[in-house]
Amino acid sequence: MQRFVCKFGGSSLADAGQFKKVADIIRSRSSRKYIVASAPGKRCPDDIKVTDMLYSCYYSAEQKQDHSLILSQIRERFESIISDLGISFDLDSEIALIDRHLAGTPNKDYMASRGEYLNSKILAAYLGFEFIDPASCICFDEKGEFLSEKTNNELKKALSDKENVVVAGFYGARPDGTINTFSRGGSDVTGSIVARAIQADMYENWTDVSGMLSADPRIVESPHSIEALTYRELRELSYMGASVLHEDAVFPVRKANIPLNIRNTNRPEDAGTIISAELPRIPRKHKVTGIAGKKGFTAILIEKSSMNSEIGFGMRFLKIFADHGVAIEHVPTGIDTMSVVVQTSLFAPYRDQIIDEIEEILEPDRYYIEDNLALIAVVGQGMAYSRGTAARVMTALADARVNIKMIDQGSTEINIILGVDDVDYEDAIRSIYKGIM
Ligand code: ASP
Repeated sequence: MQRFVCKFGGSSLADAGQFKKVADIIRSRSSRKYIVASAPGKRCPDDIKVTDMLYSCYYSAEQKQDHSLILSQIRERFESIISDLGISFDLDSEIALIDRHLAGTPNKDYMASRGEYLNSKILAAYLGFEFIDPASCICFDEKGEFLSEKTNNELKKALSDKENVVVAGFYGARPDGTINTFSRGGSDVTGSIVARAIQADMYENWTDVSGMLSADPRIVESPHSIEALTYRELRELSYMGASVLHEDAVFPVRKANIPLNIRNTNRPEDAGTIISAELPRIPRKHKVTGIAGKKGFTAILIEKSSMNSEIGFGMRFLKIFADHGVAIEHVPTGIDTMSVVVQTSLFAPYRDQIIDEIEEILEPDRYYIEDNLALIAVVGQGMAYSRGTAARVMTALADARVNIKMIDQGSTEINIILGVDDVDYEDAIRSIYKGIM
């Protein structure tokens, strides 16, 4: 019998109507036995997520302001789910516990986690499943660093003889029992680590979109959705801004080679996007899987005659950035030129010091600083085995009269990174999409 882990996001569990859809999805396939739940999300665009309400409640209590109104609003969100589902659930005792916590020295992560805690308990009661509190099996160290191997062992133990469970997403605990959350959107990570621990056949991540789109729909009109992609492609696209999953959610399932399926709770008939280690056997229509990008980069280019014969030159250049804790995105090089591309927001605080050090340590003939750079990633495993994609990308940009300021192709040939002026960013994405998709 197959075993699926199904994570339902906040919009999938925002009210009782959504809970019913979730229950139908779970009951429609017997392999859906391990459920991970988020806190109630937005019911409509101007609604407030319960997690945000919990943070506000925490800040009020921490500043010794009256938190009773916001706590009662949080209570109402859960109360309406419980009463509309028609289940019995002792919400008053749970809210009293939170109130008691707030009267002492409130803990921000504890407060934030209560959305997942309560929603998962309610979902478990509605489904007749067992509730699992991750405080006992998802482990962080004293400093709040996630302990992946310890967690894997503890979760294996906790779930070994169980099925039909609901695990609360988003949090775990430190060795002294203090609640610790992942960063925002972290229930995706919980789902992934549960999938790894039980060696699931599939990690289904249920959300409110039918999978990943091949480009940003705010820029490209109706981009096609991606049927299948590899973990690597997902990593490249999400690093460059395509957001459908928490950034860290791919690592645990990737380690265990478990496919991940992004599905839509509101359109369960859609197949969604499958993410796995290998390309599907059927040839893909597009050599390029997706296009993503971000603005806000700076390139620092230095020129020095015969720099290629100066042993250690590149290392000294990069070290200047490392010494200031500025992460490097790309390093395009020529014979006598070398550039470093960094995020402007990280570079700006150290700009003057870094320039001084470049002059002093490297003694370049010239240097240029180019701000307002946007990076575009054209990602596709298929590019490694075919010819002509790069040419078509460049032609599309030339036809659109977009000036390319930088080109970098990853060594695995699954991506081409292009630097363009911030102002050309949207046009560039649209013309690449038109030219190659
Ligand atoms: N509820 C948390 C958030 O809003 C975690 C999650 O939904 O994954 O960020």
